[in-house]
Amino acid sequence: MIRTRFAPSPTGFLHIGGARTALFSWLFARHHGGEFRLRIEDTDRARSTDAAIDAIKDGLDWLGLDCDGEIVSQHANAPRHVEIAQHLLDTGKAFKCFLTADETEALRDDAFKAGRALRSPWRDRDASEAPENAPFTVRFRASDDDMILSDAVQGDVRWAAKDFDDLILLRSDSSPTYNLAVVVDDHDMEISHIIRGDDHLVNAGRQCQIYDALGWERPVFAHIPLIHGDDGKKLSKRHGALGVEAYRDMGYLPEGLRNYLLRLGWSHGDQEFFTDDQAQAAFGLGGLNKAPARLDFSKMAHVNAHHIEAADDERLLELASPFIEAFENRETDAELIRNRYLAAMPVLKTRASTLEEIAAQGYFLIKSRPFLIEGKPAKALNDEARDRLTRLHTLLQGLAEWTEPLLAEALKAFAETEEVGFGKIGQPLRAALTGGAQAPDLAHVMAFLGRDESLARIQDQFPPAH
Ligand code: GLU
Repeated sequence: MIRTRFAPSPTGFLHIGGARTALFSWLFARHHGGEFRLRIEDTDRARSTDAAIDAIKDGLDWLGLDCDGEIVSQHANAPRHVEIAQHLLDTGKAFKCFLTADETEALRDDAFKAGRALRSPWRDRDASEAPENAPFTVRFRASDDDMILSDAVQGDVRWAAKDFDDLILLRSDSSPTYNLAVVVDDHDMEISHIIRGDDHLVNAGRQCQIYDALGWERPVFAHIPLIHGDDGKKLSKRHGALGVEAYRDMGYLPEGLRNYLLRLGWSHGDQEFFTDDQAQAAFGLGGLNKAPARLDFSKMAHVNAHHIEAADDERLLELASPFIEAFENRETDAELIRNRYLAAMPVLKTRASTLEEIAAQGYFLIKSRPFLIEGKPAKALNDEARDRLTRLHTLLQGLAEWTEPLLAEALKAFAETEEVGFGKIGQPLRAALTGGAQAPDLAHVMAFLGRDESLARIQDQFPPAH
C-alpha cells in the first residue's frame, strides 16, 4: 500500500513550497491508488491556532488536494512519543542525561573543536549517579556506524557517525522533540514514502538512526530541492507571494497553479501542460529534479493562461466575479453583467493570464454610460469623427441581424463608402464603445454589447448640435 503524507507546521498560510510538496505527495499516492494523509505538526502550541490550521486546510482545498482519512495532530500523539522514548530507554538505545545547560554548552564547544558532534558522558553512566531529583533529558544513543540513506532524489547520502550527536528525544519536561515525533507518527500512520523539502535531509539521517534502533522499516525518502526566487536565492518574504492564497487572490486557477508547481522541480520529457488525469498518470519519483527550482512568474502566467483558455465559461465568470464586483462606475444589474461577460468569455479567455485580467479586459462591457473619454481616445473623437459616427449609427440601425460576421462586414463596407482607412473609423468607434479601454476587435465588441447598448454608446458621442 502506497501511503504518503503532508506534514506542515502551522504558519498562518500554505506556503508555496509546502503546496508543491503536498502536490507531489498527493500525485504519487493517486498514481498508485494509495492514500494521501495530512498531519499537522502542531507541537508549537503558540503558533498552532485554529486559524493557522484552517489556513493550511483552506489552501489544500483550494488547490484540490484532497486528503484521505482523519487529519492527524502531532501534538495529540505526544503520549505515544513518550511511550516509544521509554521503550528506547528500556532497550538501552536511549539514556537519561543529567547534563546542565552550562555543561552541555561546554561539552558542545569541546566537541566542535574536536570536529565531532556532542556525545553525552551520561551514555555510559548510570542514572543512580545523578543527584536526587535532578532534571534530565532522554537522549538517543547515537550509532557508531556511519549512516547511509538511499534517497529517491538525492541518491546515496552518507554521514559519518561522528557527525551525529546524542539527540534529545524527550526534553526535561518530558515533551517529545521533533525527530522522535516524526518517526513515530510516520511509522504509526504506515507512511511508505516521504516526499519533502531537502532542508530535512539531515533530519532524515537522524530519523533513520531511530528507525533502525527500533527495528522499524524505513520509508522511502525523496528530498526535493527547495524553491528559489527568480534571483536564485532561497524563497523568502522579499520575493512576495509566499502563500497559495496570494495566488488565488491574484486570479490564478487552482489547476493552473497545480500545473505550474508540478513542472517546478519535476519533468516528464518536455511536456509543459498537464490535465489532472495526465499528471496523475505520468507522475513518478524518477522525474524529480536534483537542481533547485526557480519561481518564474511569467512562466506561471503562461501556464495559467493555458488553463484559463481550457476552462468552462460559466466557471470562469463565477471565479472572476470578485474582481468584476470591485470595479467602480459600472452597471449593477447582475443579469446584465452575466450576459455580457458570458457573451464575451470565449474571446476574453483567449487573451487573459489570470481571472483578474479576464475581469479587466471585459470591464468595458459593464462600464456605465455615458463615458468620460479622456486622453488619446478623446482626441480621436474630433468633429469629423463624430459626424461619421452619426452616419455609421444609421447604417448599423438598418442591419437585419446583429452578429459579429455581419458587423465586421458592415464596418468594412462603411470604410469603403466613406473612402477612408479603417483607422479613421476604428479609433473613434473604439472610443465610443469602450471609452478607450482595452477590448477585443470592434465587431466582437458590438456583438457582445448587443444592438441597443452599442447604438446608445455611439449616440452618446454624436456632435453636440445633433
Ligand atoms: N513539519 C515539517 C515542516 O513543516 C515537515 C516535516 C516532514 O515533512 O517530515 O517543515
